[in-house]
Amino acid sequence: MSASLNQPHPTSKAWMPDSWRSFPVRQMPTYPDQETLKAVEGRLSSYPPLVFAGEVRRLRAQLAKAAKGEAFVLQGGACAESFGEFKADVVRDTFRVLLQMAVVLTFGAKVPVIKLGRMAGQFAKPRSSDTETQGDVTLPSYRGDIINGPEFTEEARIPDPLRMETGYFQSTGIQNLLRAFSRGGYANLHEVHRWNLGFVERSPLADRYRVMAERIGETLSFMQACGIDAASAPQVDETEFYTSHEALLLPYEQALTRIDSTSGEWYDCSAHFVWIGDRTRQPDGAHVEFLRGVRNPIGIKVGPTTSIEDLEQLLEILNPQDEAGRITLISRMGAEKLGNHLPQLMRAVKGTGRTVTWLTDPMHGNTISTSHKVKTRSFDAIMKEIKGFFDVSKAEGVHAGGVHLEMTGQNVTECVGGANCLTEDDLGSRYETFCDPRLNAEQSLEIAFLLAEELTG
Ligand code: PEP
Ligand code: MN
Repeated sequence: MSASLNQPHPTSKAWMPDSWRSFPVRQMPTYPDQETLKAVEGRLSSYPPLVFAGEVRRLRAQLAKAAKGEAFVLQGGACAESFGEFKADVVRDTFRVLLQMAVVLTFGAKVPVIKLGRMAGQFAKPRSSDTETQGDVTLPSYRGDIINGPEFTEEARIPDPLRMETGYFQSTGIQNLLRAFSRGGYANLHEVHRWNLGFVERSPLADRYRVMAERIGETLSFMQACGIDAASAPQVDETEFYTSHEALLLPYEQALTRIDSTSGEWYDCSAHFVWIGDRTRQPDGAHVEFLRGVRNPIGIKVGPTTSIEDLEQLLEILNPQDEAGRITLISRMGAEKLGNHLPQLMRAVKGTGRTVTWLTDPMHGNTISTSHKVKTRSFDAIMKEIKGFFDVSKAEGVHAGGVHLEMTGQNVTECVGGANCLTEDDLGSRYETFCDPRLNAEQSLEIAFLLAEELTG
């Protein structure tokens, strides 16, 4: 239930990092060990922040450009990071594919691409059901490694506050590696383009992609001939890479919320960008209350059940000053439902005169179950939702600001389709996700090439 627009909203009270605690909260674990919980919260509050407020402000300014069509957002990463995959290769491979996609998209969109990983903190998961049943055993649901364990045992499923500390330390390690890759020469444009050429040659759609790959190659050679190289332009060798996750586990987010000494404002220093999921976006709920007080750019998932009234109210609560770059609306309708919902919502937001950045998440509305009860998504449905999003944006006179994907740099087999024609029978060979099915490296690159074609028209 949401309060009506003309009643005073509960959020008119003063905000504090813990004011969310007196609001109805969904999807939150109940920790049996409250003493350890308090101790962990205390320790986390004293640890160094993961990001710096100046970086967060810089991202907000870039997102403001995406709202005007002067930048394009590429947000991607795993549905859920897992403690067991805390490995350099996993981080490197996802980072690398995001860079590869960004080069292709920059070429297609002709504007800077803002790179935003679902990384270094994407550990907490909302669930549709509080319990899971296997055979005749029912246990509490797995809620992400930062809360409980994926093993199907009673013990693993007990929420353990110490997992928050593990999540924090893993996030610092991942963030550190991402910073090193971004600045240490790994992001060199020529190198990234060489990786893309390798992908194109291996792809069954090589003929289709080759033309664009060659044009990118010529452009890079031209730049080099003009003397634009790593020595004269840091953009050739370095990149900006930002982190993001769903701000679901509020005790963790609260503990990492700090006052920025330069501006005197509160920032959630667990990531540059945080979003509110489809299940926790109630205007009078705890998650909205928490996020209204931090100055990070915020994402709001917008699904088929989002009402115009709620959306308008959320924009008022979370961005009363209508600051550009503050709000990113992430549409996750499903390829079939998009046409029935997105146009009205885009029109309503436009009608408020407010500035938002619209992205498409073509993953979460397109999850299906195979006859063997394996969760998957089809490449065609994903592409169809992306195309639908671009068409609706165009028709409504709204800038299509970017894409939000669940993907990995590993060659997993979780989504069906793509140029290599993965079938339901292939899913068994490398199905490794702890939550939703992800695009693998090749499928992700294909999305980038198809999208770039779409963007160049
Ligand atoms: C997610 O992004 O992993 C997620 C759970 O999305 P949504 O809240 O849109 O369902
Ligand atoms: Mn997901």
